[in-house]
Amino acid sequence: MSFYKPETVECNGEQFKVLLSQQELENRISEIGEEINRDYADKRPILIGVLNGAFIFLADLMRHISIPCEVDFYKLSSYGDEKVSSGKVQQRKDIDANITGRHVIIVEDIVDTGLSANYIMNIVNRKKPASVEWVTLLKKSEALKYHVDIKYVGFEIPTLFVLGYGLDYAQEGRNLAQIYVLDGELPEEGEKTD
Ligand code: 5GP
Repeated sequence: MSFYKPETVECNGEQFKVLLSQQELENRISEIGEEINRDYADKRPILIGVLNGAFIFLADLMRHISIPCEVDFYKLSSYGDEKVSSGKVQQRKDIDANITGRHVIIVEDIVDTGLSANYIMNIVNRKKPASVEWVTLLKKSEALKYHVDIKYVGFEIPTLFVLGYGLDYAQEGRNLAQIYVLDGELPEEGEKTD
């Protein structure tokens, strides 16, 4: 199988470079899968992916989970076609499963301000699950404005716009096999940041 993973890529007229390689993603996702196998043995968790961004992470993560599990999806939108969140979350699709009394793991591509996570937490809690935990591939730690407890974090990243591996820029770039960042935004190694 050949993956689409150039060193640099142009998307909507802007230049992006690799932040996290396919190998780094694969290694970390495999570790998270192992943790879930241990923590949820005999619990038959239901993984709820947040569309669109989480679809690739969820698909890869699930293939590292070897205990019985199920899947469902919410669909939200908050970014529109911009690089900055609109600050408004809209639900575009509800889950189909009955999660009352179930062990739920919500799967996000990225937690930025925590607004979307907070929104989902409120809807999910009303359905009275037995437990709810979060797994996110990426977390922009400095950007968090709304509190959310995330049990499994793939990578903490700087507060920069990223692309690829399910994450888009105006709907482009989801098919990239690695995570990319705007060229020039990441300080070069050894460069002074203050
Ligand atoms: P939050 O509600 O936490 O501010 O943002 C969460 C959602 O915003 C993510 O699920 C994702 O769709 C989008 N998002 C946040 N940061 C980025 C980013 O750097 N790149 C892309 N493509 N989407 C982002």
